[in-house]
Amino acid sequence: MNDKKAYERPSIQKLNTGLMNKFGTRTEYKPLTHIDGVPVKKIVEEFDSPVFVLSEKQIRENYRRIRRSFTTRYPKVQFAWSYKTNYLNAVCRIYHQEGSWAEVVSGFEYGKALANGVPGEKIIFNGPDKSEEDLRLAVENSSLIHIDHLDELYTLKRLCENCDQKAQVAIRVNMDTGVYPQWDRFGFNYENGQAWDAINKIMASPNLQMVGLHTHIGTFMLTPSAYKVAAQKLIDLYLGIQRKFNHRLSYIDMGGGLPSPNNLKGAYLSGSDLVPPINDFAENIASALLNSEIPIDELPLLIMESGRALIDEAGYLVGSVLANKRLSNGKRATIMDFGVNILFTSFWYNHRISPAQPFSQYSEEMEVFGPLCMNIDVIRENVSLPILKKGDHVVAHMVGAYNVTQWMQFITLRPNVVLINEKGGLELIREKETLEYINSQERVPEHLVKI
Ligand SMILES: *Cc1c(COP(=O)(O)O)cnc(C)c1O
Repeated sequence: MNDKKAYERPSIQKLNTGLMNKFGTRTEYKPLTHIDGVPVKKIVEEFDSPVFVLSEKQIRENYRRIRRSFTTRYPKVQFAWSYKTNYLNAVCRIYHQEGSWAEVVSGFEYGKALANGVPGEKIIFNGPDKSEEDLRLAVENSSLIHIDHLDELYTLKRLCENCDQKAQVAIRVNMDTGVYPQWDRFGFNYENGQAWDAINKIMASPNLQMVGLHTHIGTFMLTPSAYKVAAQKLIDLYLGIQRKFNHRLSYIDMGGGLPSPNNLKGAYLSGSDLVPPINDFAENIASALLNSEIPIDELPLLIMESGRALIDEAGYLVGSVLANKRLSNGKRATIMDFGVNILFTSFWYNHRISPAQPFSQYSEEMEVFGPLCMNIDVIRENVSLPILKKGDHVVAHMVGAYNVTQWMQFITLRPNVVLINEKGGLELIREKETLEYINSQERVPEHLVKI
């Protein structure tokens, strides 16, 4: 063990005065040298840098904890994994092993769910873009089709005239929940009567079987009571359908939108202080259902499509320092080998970044950049971190949601994604892209072959 102190070049720092906050100049106190017991250094040696790392243990723990928040309050609960949040097959299969259905928003995602072995009737098909081909397949597989607009309703109705079986449908409902801006571009509006209009049309269609109601009121929601308002509005439609048509729906789907404890940009408080406990969301939804006029023995199935809250904490991005420099105003700048191209969520989160090796007590305000030749490639505008030098490793926290789906193949290739299994073993679950892989999709016209 060589414990010789690393040399750090002395520097004179300009002190910026400003508003004090109650946290002072909090920085990282401890390095994150291991993830789930696996040395970060070993992960980089085996799988390069940058590399996404997912913890199977954390995925399962989060799922069980959040599911328990609901099952302890309501008798019939079903989770459906939101594919767009993270649709790596290995990840989806962990949720399916845990009992989760699939929630998909495109034909591509629908195909992924089928290929992962999810039975058709356990796939919820949301989203405004479903082709005739997609709809036909979904009807044949008895999937739950959540109709987004009247054009889709008419298409489905026409397709089903020649079908052997009825389409299992629900409508997506949007509404005023007291949280603004209101998400009103998906589905049918509750307040202006569009929702009833769609319900009446479905109930009058002999080949459409109305089985549920759906809403997805927003994402990273910080107001648990908005879910009570939303649930009450869906229950009102549910009871209205029962009264008018003597028809009982089998489920109410409250969508996703539960927050993860990530640090939202522009928020004064850190995620762990800002975000209400998941229990509060579960309580609002469950009490709306239990306190409604629906008799206890007829309560509908409650479906939850939670995405980011389930997986954000289970994802890490391990990277390395490329260089340090001083900006024109004297501020320190550290350049990492990962940028907004693969860490897309750094546009709305201040991702916590931990050094992956021991460091001195000296820290400095700095700006953290990615490797792109683009001015917008900023991971953190302002963060107090220990001094990092070229080749040091860092770990960005809570990157499990929306990165390995929204990442861009821009300037650099997408990196490996590794799963740490419950025994602490490393498994490659998505191989890094290569130049050949990217070029294999391109075609060069004959007259451009020779340059
Ligand atoms: C994206 C999405 C989800 C998951 O949303 P989160 O905010 O990540 O929980 C659930 N349902 C639908 C319809 C979605 O589009």
